[in-house]
This record gives sequence, C-alpha cells and structure tokens, in this order.
Amino acid sequence: MNFLEEKILEDGKIYEGNVLKVDNFLNHQIDIDIMRQIAYEFKRRFKGKPVTKVLTIEASGIAIATMLADLYDVPVVFAKKGITVNSTDDKYMSQAYSFTHKHMNNVFVSRPYLSSGDKVLIVDDFLADGEAAKALIDIVNQAGGTVTGIGVAIEKGVQNGGKKLREAGYHLESIAIIDEMDYKTQTIKFRQ
Ligand code: 5GP
Repeated sequence: MNFLEEKILEDGKIYEGNVLKVDNFLNHQIDIDIMRQIAYEFKRRFKGKPVTKVLTIEASGIAIATMLADLYDVPVVFAKKGITVNSTDDKYMSQAYSFTHKHMNNVFVSRPYLSSGDKVLIVDDFLADGEAAKALIDIVNQAGGTVTGIGVAIEKGVQNGGKKLREAGYHLESIAIIDEMDYKTQTIKFRQ
C-alpha cells in the first residue's frame, strides 16, 4: 500500500452515494506532508514531460497544484466555477456536472492565463465521472495548448472517468485507485 492509500484507510469516511470524505487531510484541513508526497509522486510519474503550467479547478485541487507547481517552478492556474457567467469574451469556458453538488457548473479560465504553446499538467483531488477533467481539457484545447498529462490523487474506479480518459489516450496517473468502497462496512479496496 502506498502512503495515500494508508492515509485514506486511516482517515477517510465513506458516505452513501459513493462519496469518500477526506476532509482532515485534503478537502478542509490540508495535510502539508501528504500534499508534498503527492507532488513528489506526480513529479516522478511525469518525469521528462514538458510542463509550463499546472492547471486545476477550485477549490481542493489548488493545494496539490501549488505544491506540484513549486517543483516545476511554473505558475498554477485554477479554473473558476460559477453557475452563471455573463460574458465569455475574455474567458475560455466549458461546463462540468458536479458529482458532489449535483448541478451543472460553468468552468472558466481568463484568456491571459493559458495560451498556445502552453504544456499543461492537469491535476485534481478526485476523479469520478471525469467531468472536471473533461472541462479542463476542453479549456486547454480552446487556448491551443497541449495536455501533457493528468494527475489525480484519488480515482474512484467504479465510476468510469479514468477509463474514458485512458481510452482517449491521455497520460493519466492516479496515486490511489479505489475499486470498491462500502458505506455499511466502511471498507475500501484499492486497485493493485
Ligand atoms: P468528476 O468531475 O470526475 O465527476 O468528479 C471529480 C470532482 O468531484 C472533483 O473535483 C471532486 O471535487 C469531486 N468529487 C467527486 N467524487 C468525490 C468524492 O467521493 N469525494 C470528494 N471529496 N469529492 C469528490
């Protein structure tokens, strides 16, 4: 078991509806040592790949993205979410259905922060149906940039976001992949 799988077993709480809460180290309180280890692990797994920007989506991806961007010494860009957005003149905009909040979000990045020539490493805390990742990829494409890879801390393998991204040919790295989790027994099985 790796460090993140151990931490999930120690501190994660499973809720009904296939939701894992990791509020005490990732989604509310941030454990800097775990963030640092996640960042080093991504740096190792994407070794040799060009990165000019690390892109994530607010809010919980920002901590991971910032630690990782520090290792590459590149800027972090975080996409913002909003249900309504007045104008798209100055923004790249896409949409993502929120698994946790059950509504459609507009997702946007202001044009100056991504451009053609950018080699973008996308990161996020969770990967479920792949909606957030799909919106971020769309935004990178609108900017004319290239997606170098996608790094997620926790992939929920029962939802098929990861499968779709791998089949589409993206270099996806997930540090912990949950293949089964049971709310009643509070048990989790990780992919080997
Ligand atoms: P997706 O867009 O891949 O369907 O879902 C990923 C996004 O939804 C992540 O940005 C994350 O914030 C949220 N998310 C999805 N599943 C979970 C979960 O089980 N626990 C938590 N804390 N967030 C989740």
